[in-house]
Amino acid sequence: MFCIDHDLHLHSTLSKCCHDPAMTPEKILAWAEKQGYRTLCLTNHLWDGDVPGASAWYASQDIPHLREALPLPQGENLRFCFGCEAEYCGGDKLSLRPEHFDGFDFVAIAVNHMHMKGLTRPEGVDTAEKMAELFTSRMEQLLKLPFTFRKVGLAHLNIHHMFREGTAADVLRLCDKERWSAIFRDAAEKGIGIELNASAFAKAGENMTVHLDFFRLAKKAGCRFYCASDAHKLDALEISSLRPVIDALGLTEQDRYVIL
Ligand SMILES: [Zn+2]
Ligand SMILES: [Zn+2]
Repeated sequence: MFCIDHDLHLHSTLSKCCHDPAMTPEKILAWAEKQGYRTLCLTNHLWDGDVPGASAWYASQDIPHLREALPLPQGENLRFCFGCEAEYCGGDKLSLRPEHFDGFDFVAIAVNHMHMKGLTRPEGVDTAEKMAELFTSRMEQLLKLPFTFRKVGLAHLNIHHMFREGTAADVLRLCDKERWSAIFRDAAEKGIGIELNASAFAKAGENMTVHLDFFRLAKKAGCRFYCASDAHKLDALEISSLRPVIDALGLTEQDRYVIL
């Protein structure tokens, strides 16, 4: 049984896009303890001050800013980990320097915040075909970098932000299966976690099969998975909607990614 007893991607008021004053580590912990959770990970948006090229929105969300959340409150039976959500822009440009991975228990990497035109999305990528190619080649590039991949999670691979002109499914169904199978085999070997993002699956609608088929490639490749709310407000922490996704993918406890 793959239990929903963890949430490894969520934001607090330290993220600029979090507007719910109730999103404090203490309130998040209290909510999760009531559900019987065992693990939480705080993953606020990050742009390391040592990485050039931060957008105006990112600029102040640096490591000292994220560390304001420390020390995180701990539950009696619940471990509250300190992580971040880092931005990948292609090439060697990740918003967290490799030598700074040590400061975090977990690094959720977003490869498809493609709504950030100019930062993550180059000019001219304006069709689902072009986006599928960009998304795929980004992942291939990322896996070549010198990171401590065991503490990396791939955030919301099926998020709607990837292609707001259409749907995430428009892109996912055009992704080359051979290339993604190779990506997922490499990810499995490196010990990377694959995120099941509740809000991304909730937006799948009639395209649920397309979303599931994409994640089936990861399951077949031997990847491990974790649940995530990506919550920016307290009432978005509820992720029992992932149960049918977990069941459809046939995940068991052996398929679960664990933060070391
Ligand atoms: Zn994100
Ligand atoms: Zn997030």
